[in-house]
Amino acid sequence: MNIKVRNPATLATIVELPAAAPADVVAAVARARAAQQLWQGTSFTERARILYRLRDLLLDEGEKLGDILTAETGRPRAEVYGNELFYLCDAIGTWAKKAETYLSPQTIKPHFALVKAKKVTTVYAPRGVIGIISPWNFPLTMTLGEAIPALMAGNAVVIKPSELTPLSAQFGAEIALRAGLPENLLQVVVGRGETGEALIDQADMIAFTGSVETGKRVIRRAAERLIPVSLELGGKDPMIVLKDADLDRAAGACVWGALMNSGQICTSIERVYVEAPVYQLFVDKIVAKVRALRQGASADEVDLGTMTSETQLKLVETQVADAIALGAKVLIGGRRNPALLGYYFEPTVLVDVDHSMSVMTEETFGPIIPIMKADDANHALRLANDSRFGLGASIFARDKVVVEHLTAELQSGAVCVNDSLVNFIIPDAPMGGRKDSGFGYRHGAEGIRKFCHQKTIVTDRFGLKEEFPWYPATQKKAQQARHLLNLLCHSGWRHKLRAFMGLIRS
Ligand code: NAD
Repeated sequence: MNIKVRNPATLATIVELPAAAPADVVAAVARARAAQQLWQGTSFTERARILYRLRDLLLDEGEKLGDILTAETGRPRAEVYGNELFYLCDAIGTWAKKAETYLSPQTIKPHFALVKAKKVTTVYAPRGVIGIISPWNFPLTMTLGEAIPALMAGNAVVIKPSELTPLSAQFGAEIALRAGLPENLLQVVVGRGETGEALIDQADMIAFTGSVETGKRVIRRAAERLIPVSLELGGKDPMIVLKDADLDRAAGACVWGALMNSGQICTSIERVYVEAPVYQLFVDKIVAKVRALRQGASADEVDLGTMTSETQLKLVETQVADAIALGAKVLIGGRRNPALLGYYFEPTVLVDVDHSMSVMTEETFGPIIPIMKADDANHALRLANDSRFGLGASIFARDKVVVEHLTAELQSGAVCVNDSLVNFIIPDAPMGGRKDSGFGYRHGAEGIRKFCHQKTIVTDRFGLKEEFPWYPATQKKAQQARHLLNLLCHSGWRHKLRAFMGLIRS
C-alpha cells in the first residue's frame, strides 16, 4: 500500500510514495554492500571532505529543506534552522574532525606480568551496512544525523525513515550524492514496519530510534540474526526545581524544554517537581510565559506549530482527559486549538497531578507541562526516579552539595544542571538511556565505535621456540604454574615467599 505523506498543518496530502517491499530492501542492501567495499578503503580525510561539501550544500539548500521539513512536520521554520540544521551542521563538523581520533588503533598495556612482553593493539573496522530506523519527530537529525558517524566509520547506510516524514531524509540523501558521496552508499527505503523488518533481516547492524514497544520488536527480530542493535527509545524526563533556584531561568528553560517541537522530543521535560516554598511562584511564572506563546502555521512568526501525527494528538488528548478525571486542574490550554485547522494542541499547564495519572508516568510526547509540589529535594528525587524510563533529567538549584547528590542519584542517561535539553546538541558527549529508554549511545566515542567491529591484535615480540603453556602438559609445569600464581596473585607474603622458593627449586 502506498504511503501518503500529509502536511499536519493543512491536512493536505503532499505526495504519495510506493512502500518498499522486502525485495526492494534486499536489493538496496546488496547495492549498499558493493558500494561499501570501496568506501572502506577511503581515508578519514577523504570522507570528511565529502561531508564538509554536504554541509555547504545543506546550508545552500536551507530554504528548500525548510519547506520540506515544515511541510511534513508542521513545525515553525525557526525550529528547522535553529535545531535540525544547526545540529546537523555541528554534528558533521564534529564527526569529520573527531572520527579519526575515536577510531585510531589503540595500544593496550597488559596488566598480567606473563603477557607483558606481547604487543597488544585494538583496531576498529566498519561493520558493513548499517540500517537506520527512525521516528518522525526530527526527520533530518534522526536519519542523516545518525548516518554521518556510520559513514565516517567506513560503513554504507540504508535509512528507513518514519512513514510520516520520509521526505527530509530523501532530500538529505539526494544532497549527499551531489556532495560526492558514492552512489548507493547512502540510501533511503520508504515504508512502514514491514520495510523496517526487512531491513533488520539484511543489515549488519540496526540503529533504532523510536518507541519502547517497537524497540522490543526490533531487538527480538535482530536476535534471530545475532546482529547488534542500538536502541534510543522513549523518555519521561523529570525536572526538579528547588527553593534556591533561579526561578526565572528555571521557568524559561522549562517552557522551552517542554514545548519545543510541541513537546515531541525524546528528552522533553515531561513532568516537573517543585519544592513547596517556591511552588506557587514558579507555577505563576510558567503560566505567564505559556500565555505569551504564539501558535500557528509554520510560515508565520510563531513559537509552536502543530503536532506531527493525529495518533499522537489523540494520545495527548487521552492523557489530559484521564488526568482531569483523576483531579488534575488545567491552568491554561488543555485542548486542541479551536482556531486552527491542523493537529494543533494548545500549550498546556496542569497542576494537582500525581503518579496515579498516565500524564505523569507514560510518555506524552506533546505540549504539556504537568507540575507537582514536592516536600523537599529527596522527595523530588524519589518522584523523579519513580518511572520506567531513564533518558534525561534536569535540576534547577544553587546548592552544590544538593545538586551533586541529585545528579548522582537520578536514574537517567543525562542530567542538565540549571539547563534543559542542551545535552542533545553536544555531539562530543555520549547520549543514551537506561531502563525502558534503551541502551547504546549516540554521540561521543561510543556514538561512532558502535558502528565498528573491534579487533584485538596480539603480536609476539621475542620469537621463542616454546612458550610455557604449550604442550606437553607435565606435572612439573602444573606445579610451576601454581607457584607462579601464588607469587603473582596471593596477597599473603608467606605464600609469596613459599611460591618463590618452590619456583627456584623446580
Ligand atoms: P515508532 O516506534 O512508532 O516508529 C519508529 C520507526 O520504527 C518508524 O520508522 C516505524 O516505521 C518503524 N517500525 C515500526 N514497526 C517496526 C517493526 N516491527 N520493525 C522495524 N521497524 C518498525 O516511533 P515513532 O512514533 O515514530 O517515534 C516516537 C518515539 O521515538 C518516542 O517514543 C520517542 O521518545 C522516541 N525517540 C527517542 C529518541 C532517543 O534518542 N531516545 C529520539 C527521538 C525519538
